[in-house]
Amino acid sequence: MTIPSPVTPGQVTLVGGGPGTLGLLTVAGTAALLEAEVVLYDRLGPAAHLAVLAPHAQLVDVGKRPGNHALSQNDINDLIVAHALRGSTVVRLKGGDPFVFGRGSEEVLACHARGIPVTVISGVTSAISVPAAAGIPLTHRGLSHAFTVISGHAPLTERELEGLVLLGSTIVVLMGVGTLPTLTQGLLRHGMTGDLPVAIIERGFSDTQRTTIATLATVLGVAARASVSSPAVLVLGDVVRLAYTGDESAEELIVRAGEFHARS
Ligand code: SAH
Repeated sequence: MTIPSPVTPGQVTLVGGGPGTLGLLTVAGTAALLEAEVVLYDRLGPAAHLAVLAPHAQLVDVGKRPGNHALSQNDINDLIVAHALRGSTVVRLKGGDPFVFGRGSEEVLACHARGIPVTVISGVTSAISVPAAAGIPLTHRGLSHAFTVISGHAPLTERELEGLVLLGSTIVVLMGVGTLPTLTQGLLRHGMTGDLPVAIIERGFSDTQRTTIATLATVLGVAARASVSSPAVLVLGDVVRLAYTGDESAEELIVRAGEFHARS
């Protein structure tokens, strides 16, 4: 009698897809996609180009399902594990960098729990590249020598707000559109100056990329008037003064937002 040997688990590679433009997908990420037999992807990152990037792969959209229903993180973990246990070469493609608010580490742990080997290929995070696409450096000699990247998914605690104000770094917020009111009010409550420049960069690297500039005191009104929506990266700090804004300088936009605020 022959006993079938168990299938050797396939390799799983977490690929950081960058912020959505092909030019910022890494060479290592491109090579992994080319080899992939299954690619699990979602909305952010270079999803539009997958048919070309991963020509041999079954493409599985785990972000938006038919009927608009997203899979839970547990379902995604299970799906990665199931494909790997069948012996497939699996790529989990994530927007930006897999280890920046991407829950990539949870996917790594789920694979390790089942003895599945995982490789992580870092990607270009939107936290740095989307501000750069709007001309905003996160550090600049004399303006800022540190930056803090925070998730706006849940409101910050009072201690965290206090710490941010004391540190005085450039603040970058991902997933921050919904919690903008609590963030701005919290920072002001802890003594941050209302003059602090703020930029909101929506849909970085797309044809509809847009930068909205205001100050901490004015940003709620300005964002509401512009109907700012997700996905967007928020930057708070003096480096916003260096943004490219077309005809008007960032400085003029900051002043104009202040004048509107004073009138209303
Ligand atoms: N791992 C990702 C972040 C995942 S959280 C990374 O490193 O970039 C998702 C958030 O990232 C979005 O809500 C938004 O705040 C930001 N984001 C990602 N891509 C973006 C883009 N092209 N333009 C604007 N914001 C983006």
